[in-house]
Amino acid sequence: MGVTVKTAKEIEILREGGKRLGEILQKVAAEVKPGVSGKMLNDLAETLMREKGDSPSFLGYSPRGAKRAFPAALCVSVNDEVVHGIPNEKEKILREGDIVALDAGLIHKGLFTDSAMTIGVGKIDEGGQNLIDTTKKALAVGIGAVRAGATTGDIGFAIEKFVTSAGSFGIVRDLAGHGVGYSVHEEPLIPNFGKKGEGTALKAGMVIAIEPMLNEGKAAVKIDGDGYTYRTKDGTRSAHFEHTVVVTEKGAEILTKV
Ligand code: MG
Ligand code: MG
Repeated sequence: MGVTVKTAKEIEILREGGKRLGEILQKVAAEVKPGVSGKMLNDLAETLMREKGDSPSFLGYSPRGAKRAFPAALCVSVNDEVVHGIPNEKEKILREGDIVALDAGLIHKGLFTDSAMTIGVGKIDEGGQNLIDTTKKALAVGIGAVRAGATTGDIGFAIEKFVTSAGSFGIVRDLAGHGVGYSVHEEPLIPNFGKKGEGTALKAGMVIAIEPMLNEGKAAVKIDGDGYTYRTKDGTRSAHFEHTVVVTEKGAEILTKV
């Protein structure tokens, strides 16, 4: 399909879908506490989506090369799990001190938004909080680099520069942000590292998901036997934040913000 620009009418629908998705993630996050299972969070997310007539975009989604479709509405990735953790197969009970990434995609009136956040379960240690705070700021910095005429490389450059200055975190390089709106993943790819002026030029009306993933240790990740769950290779914890934004002449409008 190549890089697409959405119409004003489509952006209006994405704005409503993004707002709904942001609210759902907030409601799911509010239920995160020790003893809660991934399945409970997944079921809540799916129920909240469907009760307003929307549907989960991840459930049944088959990425290229996948042996089976993704089996859940919500990704729940705990501690060393980076992204795409499956919440409803193995029993995944959250424990005090865990950090958990919640990632969901919503289809509203046929159009797709995508958002993620990482939070602590109960009381978490300083390292975990620092990892979460830095990843959240990295997303804000990445969004800050968006405007018509900038490039995907400018976003990656800004994120990489900020993260490097913030400490010794591993920026996951095997996974990236992406265009979104007509489907779960569209062009262009938006790596969380890069060089100024490289990559795809951004145009007003492009809708993109920016999603830094930071590890406490090294950047390398591996995929589990379930075919989806990415983990850090060195076993350190990982955090993930994501917003869907629309590129404007002057900057970015965040669609998935509450
Ligand atoms: Mg996502
Ligand atoms: Mg995404």
